Formats: sequence, C-alpha cells, structure tokens
Amino acid sequence: MDEQTLRNLLNLESEKSIDRIQIFDEIDSTNSESLRQIRSGNTENRVVVASSQTAGRGRRGRQWLSPKNAGIYLSLTRRFSMEANALQALSLVTAISVLEALRELGAQGLQLKWPNDVLFEKKKLAGILLELQQKEASRFVVFGIGVNVELSAGSQERIDRPVTDLNSIINELPSRAILLAALLNHLCRNLGRYENSGFSSFEERWNSLDCYRMIDIEIQNGESRLIGKSLGVDSEGSLRLQTANGIQSINGGEVFPSLRPLSE
Ligand code: ATP
Repeated sequence: MDEQTLRNLLNLESEKSIDRIQIFDEIDSTNSESLRQIRSGNTENRVVVASSQTAGRGRRGRQWLSPKNAGIYLSLTRRFSMEANALQALSLVTAISVLEALRELGAQGLQLKWPNDVLFEKKKLAGILLELQQKEASRFVVFGIGVNVELSAGSQERIDRPVTDLNSIINELPSRAILLAALLNHLCRNLGRYENSGFSSFEERWNSLDCYRMIDIEIQNGESRLIGKSLGVDSEGSLRLQTANGIQSINGGEVFPSLRPLSE
C-alpha cells in the first residue's frame, strides 16, 4: 500500500485535516514515533502507519502484540486546543469511530467497553491509546489505534485475555488501504464534530453500544475497587456507577464484570 492509494480513499474532511502520511514496514510503536516527531518540531497533523510494531503499547505500559500484517497499527496526530481532561471523552469518541468504521465494512454485533475497547462477543478486537504532548503553546493528541485483522491462533494464545480478529467476524476482508481509510474517515469526521459540539452528541451513541450498561461491574483503579451497576456515560464521557452509596461519576480505571453482588 502506498500513500497515494490511501489518499484516494480519504473523504474531503480527512484529506483536509491530514498533512502527512508515513508508512513504515516495521517500527517500535506508531505512537512513540508520532511523539518523537512532535518533540523534534514536526508539528503537522500526520498519520503514521506500520505493518508491524516491535514494541506496540497499550495503557499503563502494557504491550500491544503487533505481528506483521496481522493488524492495523495506526497513529493520527492532531493539534488540539483543549484541556487535558478532555482526553477521556476523546478516547471514547475514538472507540466509537473505530466501531463505526468496522461496522461500515461489514462487522456486525460490535460493542464498546468503557473507556476505549472495541469488542466482539466480549473478545477484544481493537485497542486505543491516546497520548497528549505539549510543544510550546500547542497541545497535540496522538490517537493510537490497533485493530486485529488476521491474528494467528499462536498469537492469540500469547495474549492474556479473550481476543478476536476481523477475519473471524466478516466474510471477506477489505484491503489494508480500505480499512485504514475507513478508520481515518470516521475518526476525522467525529473529531470535527467533537470540536464543534463536545461529547454530548456522542453520549447516546456510546450508551447504545456499551456492553456493560445496566450490568453489575467492578471498577479497579490502582488498589481501589468499586462495585456497582453501570448506568452508561454522561455528557462528559464519565462512567455513571450506581453504588450502595449513590451514583458516582468515574473518570479512570478498568471495568470488569462483577462477580460479587452489590450488597456485599
Ligand atoms: P482493558 O481492556 O481492561 O480496558 P486496557 O485498556 O489497559 O485494558 P489496552 O491498553 O487497550 O488494555 O491493551 C493492552 C492489553 O491488551 C494487554 O495487556 C493485553 O491483555 C491485550 N492485548 C495485547 N495485544 C493485543 C492484541 N493484539 N489484541 C487484543 N488484545 C491485546
């Protein structure tokens, strides 16, 4: 895949908002490369794509397994004038964009897990890592996206949780260029919408796709654990949790299905 093939598939909105596209065969991490570029003064809005990552990253320094051509490994860098706390809502907007792009390509039955996982039958299909970088007076957000396309059984076994790939969900896999373009087109359109009107226009969309909404969950944040019923997200993207002590608004942590009743 070359840059021109990809550019030809971009809609006007993404074409206008992406100044550079860089395609690598192998890289440590598309997010790390994007952060390096910002630090060294290359501040255009850019896309970094790689066929494989040797040090793909997830949240909290976790690894994202990225074998050659087994997935899409993509980072979009975009200048943002916003507060650092908007990052959470942007993370949700990114997950919605990935789900909508894959659905457009034929993947039905996908769901979201707060704050940023895309799942199929509770198995992880895509992961998202947003990173913020300040350079002089400007703030840049790096939107890192990993989607499993054809992940071998051997690779799936190396991951410590249930995972799946696009190949198991749709009949005919689209080309890498079509996949990338769909992801970028949905993301750029939704980021534009977010910049104009914030997260409130995404609240309902998220809640209709959230696989744990109205279900008892446990939230782990470092050492702390909170049990309650997920009420979905609010207009800021925070998770609303009905606990024994009332409704709490959650801004960080990991969601697990609750194995214990709420009254304990
Ligand atoms: P959670 O899924 O609980 O929200 P997280 O958001 O911290 O966790 P990520 O940062 O999105 O997870 O991804 C890192 C984790 O994803 C790893 O710890 C591993 O369990 C899992 N993982 C690693 N590589 C892949 C992959 N290719 N496909 C699916 N899952 C993976």
